[in-house]
Amino acid sequence: AAGRPGALGIADVNSAVVDMLQSTIGRVGQVRRILEQRDFHLAYQPIVNLVTGKLHHVEALMRVGDSASPAEFIAFAERVGLICDLDLLVLQTALDALKAAHDQKRAIPDIAINLSAVTLNSPLMVEQLQTVLRPYGIIARKLLIEVTETAAVHDFRGLNQTLDRLRRMGLRVCLDDVGSGTTSFLSLNELRVDYAKLDGRIVRGALTNSRDRAILHSIVEIARHINIELIAEQVETDAQLHHLRQLGVRYGQGYLFGKPSASLSNLDQGMPSRPARRTGKQVSWE
Ligand code: C2E
Ligand code: MG
Ligand code: MG
Ligand code: MG
Repeated sequence: AAGRPGALGIADVNSAVVDMLQSTIGRVGQVRRILEQRDFHLAYQPIVNLVTGKLHHVEALMRVGDSASPAEFIAFAERVGLICDLDLLVLQTALDALKAAHDQKRAIPDIAINLSAVTLNSPLMVEQLQTVLRPYGIIARKLLIEVTETAAVHDFRGLNQTLDRLRRMGLRVCLDDVGSGTTSFLSLNELRVDYAKLDGRIVRGALTNSRDRAILHSIVEIARHINIELIAEQVETDAQLHHLRQLGVRYGQGYLFGKPSASLSNLDQGMPSRPARRTGKQVSWE
């Protein structure tokens, strides 16, 4: 092929591969440094009961630097095999926050953390998760685990065994992003979980797009059949809230209720950023 105009010579291919490897190695180093220096923090976002308006728990979302998108960062960590370390560190950080509050007799809400299905599917990790959890005893009961199905998961039986072990330790489990491309109806049916989260794209699309609405309604129907509580993600408007309440979705999360925030303590009192009381069919924040 060399010599033909526009075709790549072997030297071009080599140098492209070297560039790619160098950039990957650079980024692996970046993730390693974040892990070793614990150079990240968790932002906490409220999940509220859509009927009472009361805070139910918070989701801990990882933040690295100012610009990095967590989704991209996590996907990269999965690809290069560092996701387990990252997830363990997040777990430890959330447990430490719960323990500090417990020791100081401060009230803080239950915390949901995200664990990659890659982590939960690794047989070695189950032991490690248990080792991290054990010293915290009943404090671990304040934890919820959000699991996102990824293409890497085919083994529902194995994943269910892991989820069962976590639930026996008192943790609750939530299937994340249901209705998105990654988490299917099948997983909702197969996995033993306490809650399922309606993917934000569907929640935001349901009022304007009839297919999104049909998917949302089907998930609500299935969840009712198998007795799983739903949490709607990315609720942004009163109209979305109204629709979700009409469908009987119990919990919600989104900018309408509060953005992810670095502080856990200003969530103690419920919902600080909303008007004091609303009337009619709307939620009232006390
Ligand atoms: P997720 O678990 O589905 O988290 C919900 C995402 O929706 C978060 O994005 C949150 O900031 C965003 N969000 C919340 N409310 C609204 C809203 O009203 N409107 C809109 N448009 N977006 C809203 P974020 O923080 O960028 O995280 C992206 C994803 O990265 C998460 O999706 C989760 O899958 C993953 N992730 C984040 N932290 C961790 C972690 O510690 N470990 C693992 N394994 N994954 C994590
Ligand atoms: Mg999540
Ligand atoms: Mg989600
Ligand atoms: Mg999502």
